[in-house]
Amino acid sequence: MSSNLHTAVTTKKLDMKPVPLLVLLISFKPKDAKTWEDGIQMISTSKEYWYNVCFGDEGYTLKNFYKEMSGGKFYFEPAKILGTDIPGVLEVTLDIPHPDRMTKDSPGKSHGNAFYCIAEALKKADPYIDFSHYDIDNGGYLSSDEFNVLLIHAGYDISGGKDTNEDLHWGVFANCGSLPESMDQDGVSGAHAPNLDGVKLCAFGKGCYTLVGEYRKTGGQFVPHTLGTIAHELGHSIGFHDVYDYDKKVVGWPLPYLFSLMGHGNYGNAEASNEVLKGTVPQHLDPFQKIRSGFIEPEIVNDDGEYVIHSISGENANVIRINTPDPKEYFLLENRQLAGFSKGLYRKRYVTNENGEQTEISENYEKGGVIIWHIDEDIFDKYSVIKRTNSSGFYDPEFECETTLRHDPGIVTLFKNGFDENGLLKNDGKFVLGYPEDPFFRGGDVFNSNVYISAATHTKSLNSFPNGISQDTYNLRIEFIEDNGDEIKIRVTQTK
Ligand SMILES: [Zn+2]
Repeated sequence: MSSNLHTAVTTKKLDMKPVPLLVLLISFKPKDAKTWEDGIQMISTSKEYWYNVCFGDEGYTLKNFYKEMSGGKFYFEPAKILGTDIPGVLEVTLDIPHPDRMTKDSPGKSHGNAFYCIAEALKKADPYIDFSHYDIDNGGYLSSDEFNVLLIHAGYDISGGKDTNEDLHWGVFANCGSLPESMDQDGVSGAHAPNLDGVKLCAFGKGCYTLVGEYRKTGGQFVPHTLGTIAHELGHSIGFHDVYDYDKKVVGWPLPYLFSLMGHGNYGNAEASNEVLKGTVPQHLDPFQKIRSGFIEPEIVNDDGEYVIHSISGENANVIRINTPDPKEYFLLENRQLAGFSKGLYRKRYVTNENGEQTEISENYEKGGVIIWHIDEDIFDKYSVIKRTNSSGFYDPEFECETTLRHDPGIVTLFKNGFDENGLLKNDGKFVLGYPEDPFFRGGDVFNSNVYISAATHTKSLNSFPNGISQDTYNLRIEFIEDNGDEIKIRVTQTK
């Protein structure tokens, strides 16, 4: 998850074609260093391992994930590296300490130290790559449409906690960001975007880097960082926006949770009871950002009638967009069958353990179905640039946050069990908020938009209505009339 240093992203249209990715494994071994305390931290996973995670054709890989989301059109392909047996993956050793060690000596310069290491690693990779080859528009910069770099730092990732073990002493926090172009960050010499082969890499406003720690503590064990984080952070690099709640001011705030890669979907797990595997099967992006990115075209519904929703994991994947009286608010419907990456969906149940303490267990769903989304484009466009699309914090235009105005989230899943009278997730006491027993609509179910209330404005169905239309009379009714899993037939009726 994590911060997105120096980038203010909002989702944009991508070219539907493979994008080159360099996976750079970075070891740290300063000259004269004797022990880990001097900042030594070496990579201990193999290049083959990362090749399989990112570029493998079998199973839950980065390539298959983006292919499944885009109907096979968009994925990351190995960048061309000279003199390697493993396409797209390069290992370098820097003769400087791990950035976490540097920051021990220079507290307050953590960004500068991190950026310095990124720049040094790219310089070390330069003899093996012709970066100018990727500057397709000859703009003098590599943009994220042209080239991406995933930097795997030896050591652990702080997103899993600040624990160490006998091999892993130093940590970084997974993030996607960019480097200042001319000034050195925090005055650290060399902490700026490097100019290599005549092009600038990862420069602020032009391109991005994506960075993770080699290992992450998950389910009590250090494991090589799972696909979920990599898919999420690279998502930022190509323009996706976080849709979880940064502020966490309101319990039960309606959000996408596991149902978007940019919510908590990076934690998907096809064997949900095994916490060590959390994040190995990331979840599809929310349909709004999928459409914005060009991964799928919506089927637009303006009229009452019958329509069919096909599984998003299948060949005929579609997303239905039902327009409403507010031109900037609409409902998106998608069919999430438990196939492909959607096998990683799960709910969370409260259980009491043998000591009488309440804990949570995760269990995969037995059956998928339709997930209904309420989109407010105005909110997304206004708040995504300040990274507050789905925030429950107060908003102040001058300080980004903290005043008396709270806005509705821009991208919301309308789980089948509905909202309470304040527009918040219903708490049944049995399942963890956001991880309900059964959020899917299927054959026999009926959806009525007026049982969903906006979290901030407390209006029914929509956040705002044009003149002449009342929240008390407006309703979108969807009957789920036929359901064979991969195809779900619905009847749409709008009362205005
Ligand atoms: Zn993020």
